[in-house]
Amino acid sequence: MAALRGQQNTLYIPSSVEQEMSEYMFHSLPQEACGIVLGEAAAGGIRISRFQPIRNVAPDPLHHFQLEQAEWIRCIFQEPTLIGVFHSHPRTEPLPSLEDIHALPTFAGLLNVYLIGSPVHPSDSTSHNKMNLHAYEIESATHTPDEVNEGSKHTLQPLQLRMT
Ligand SMILES: [Zn+2]
Repeated sequence: MAALRGQQNTLYIPSSVEQEMSEYMFHSLPQEACGIVLGEAAAGGIRISRFQPIRNVAPDPLHHFQLEQAEWIRCIFQEPTLIGVFHSHPRTEPLPSLEDIHALPTFAGLLNVYLIGSPVHPSDSTSHNKMNLHAYEIESATHTPDEVNEGSKHTLQPLQLRMT
């Protein structure tokens, strides 16, 4: 996955995969939904191939997400095209929260792509069909050898999302 670094300006996602994510997100309400995405390098970016839901085992799943560990570990070792993580913000915009940023070291080094989805109309329970999806690239910056022990800093850089 490290080989992808520096060439992933656009994230291509098949509309069928986006639809699966969206349906899973609405199905999981009022809880946050989460899962992983598989994909590979493509011309000018990354192409998502599949979404796989993973159970949210956070103690407070209404406001947090935590991937069920056994399934997450299995994906790390058995899914060679594991490329990103998805979770939903049922009641807020699909923007990274402070908590999301603090949890990045869990995924950095394993994943390149960070996806957040939100219902377009959170308060309107009848429009269970539209998701606002944001895509980010997980970037790790370790500045000097002296800083290694303090841990590297991780940031999320917006990726252009293109439905295919
Ligand atoms: Zn979040």
